[in-house]
Amino acid sequence: MIAEALSGIRQELPGGVRLVAVSKYHPSSAILEAYEAGQRLFGESHAQELQAKRGQLPGDIEWHFIGHLQTNKVKYIAPYVSLIHAVDTPRLLEEISRQALRHGRRIPCLLELKVAREATKYGFQPEECDEYLSSGLWRRLEGARICGVMCMASLTQDEGQIASEFEAARGFFLRARERYFQGSDSFRECSWGMSDDYRIALQHGATLVRVGSRIFGQRDYTAGK
Ligand SMILES: *Cc1c(COP(=O)(O)O)cnc(C)c1O
Repeated sequence: MIAEALSGIRQELPGGVRLVAVSKYHPSSAILEAYEAGQRLFGESHAQELQAKRGQLPGDIEWHFIGHLQTNKVKYIAPYVSLIHAVDTPRLLEEISRQALRHGRRIPCLLELKVAREATKYGFQPEECDEYLSSGLWRRLEGARICGVMCMASLTQDEGQIASEFEAARGFFLRARERYFQGSDSFRECSWGMSDDYRIALQHGATLVRVGSRIFGQRDYTAGK
């Protein structure tokens, strides 16, 4: 089932778009099943859970951290995480840089934008994010590299609303690239789209889609990890 779901989604992805298989709350056995079907890129949103699973799974898996990341958890994932999707404060970016440098790394990061209509706890307001970029402070962080933006759309059936939120993020990305990342090839990722809205995301500039339940089924939040 996992293999079929994966291949169905992969067939829908235009060239250059990558699928992050979101495996949070699913056991390592499910991840292994996806791995055996060729998937190498997985997303997790809890540092301890990721830590435990990584130890049980093949070493060539690329792990993305997709959820809210507390600054005191950065150290656990800094040695190996290949992209942090949801950087929502300058302080978090600074800590990522600090921890990355301890391992001689520079960790790719995305800035999380608040574009949804509902009040969400995390993310930068677009104006706030633009202010931070224009401050240039991030340029001194040698252990973190800003590679693009990430967002989550409103939880709604209104596809027009979702599309307009992805477009807002896309517009932000394009302007930021023009203003702050001229001549840089690494600022290129747009992370949006989940199980229920990745098709819309694909029409609005996504380069990374984060799909969980459509691949692995419903998450069981009560089961032990
Ligand atoms: C859980 C999660 C997803 C995947 O959600 P599904 O609806 O299961 O596809 C994507 N992005 C983030 C940030 C998540 O926390």
